[in-house]
Amino acid sequence: MAKVIDGQKLAQALRGDLLARAGAIDGRRGAAPGLAVILVGDDAASAVYVRNKIRACDAVGIRSVCHRFPSSVSNADLLDLIARLNADSEIDGILVQLPLPAHIALDQVLEAISVAKDVDGFHLYNVGGLVTGNTVFSPCTPYGVVKLLESEDIAIDGQNVVVVGASNIVGKPMALMLMARGATVAICHAKTRDLAQFTILADILVVAAGVPGLIIPQMVKTGAVVIDVGINRLPDGRITGDVDFNGVSAKASRITPVPGGVGPMTVTMLLENTIASAERALSRGERVAENSASERLF
Ligand code: NAP
Repeated sequence: MAKVIDGQKLAQALRGDLLARAGAIDGRRGAAPGLAVILVGDDAASAVYVRNKIRACDAVGIRSVCHRFPSSVSNADLLDLIARLNADSEIDGILVQLPLPAHIALDQVLEAISVAKDVDGFHLYNVGGLVTGNTVFSPCTPYGVVKLLESEDIAIDGQNVVVVGASNIVGKPMALMLMARGATVAICHAKTRDLAQFTILADILVVAAGVPGLIIPQMVKTGAVVIDVGINRLPDGRITGDVDFNGVSAKASRITPVPGGVGPMTVTMLLENTIASAERALSRGERVAENSASERLF
């Protein structure tokens, strides 16, 4: 029977450390790490995600500011706000909750965010950095999966990894991050013929398709590590992943549950990115101060 990887427990442990780091930043610069969240329109799911993120910020000592706009907001108004947040020294992270209404130029909005404050990791520079190995911020969900694997001491180097799902926010960055850590990676998507012929080879199987029950035991190698990123709401209201949890548990060595696996890690990585951003800003500020002090001496 597979060991269940407890994402909730790991997230709690990491958040304890983040609370201490946020307190240290506040002590050094007299301002807590700051996250600006931009929410457009009245999508119910987006509102819930934003509420959860704000609550998580409060719990670790990050000051969050939510900017709400009606769905009729113009591109120019959003770009104007982002420019002001980019220049605000007390804002360390800027997050635009997706999806945005169709009339907004998503690429323009994401690329207006300063690379140094792009805590979601969606700016083209940070996306490209995943390919070249010098990204500033890793996107939160795949980053959370890497942390889960590391916390379980699961080797990535030299392993066969199959990622099911090829979206820009989960599947593709996930594949790049695991390849950067030495895995041999196959990426599958909706047009993949005979998905099982790929998944059966995986030492580590990461599933992010948004299809409940997509992965059944016959598709999984005995002893594989199975990470279920999927979050699906069933007609009866229950939340489930993409993996047949009970069936696959009998075959895998380790498995993440839904809920309680990857989900809590995603928000935790947003907190981690925001605090890391504040730490970088602080050391940049201290270096500038040191340099100008030594210029005055000579
Ligand atoms: P998405 O943008 O809809 O992408 C889904 C991907 O899965 C696409 O690449 C699609 O292929 C592929 N796919 C769809 N059906 C498939 C099938 N039958 N076989 C193989 N591949 C299939 O979704 P996403 O944003 O990446 O999210 C994926 C899932 O993860 C969703 O359930 C979402 O709710 C969940 N999620 C969870 C978290 C978390 O924190 N746990 C965070 C983000 C997302 P094509 O590219 O060919 O269309």
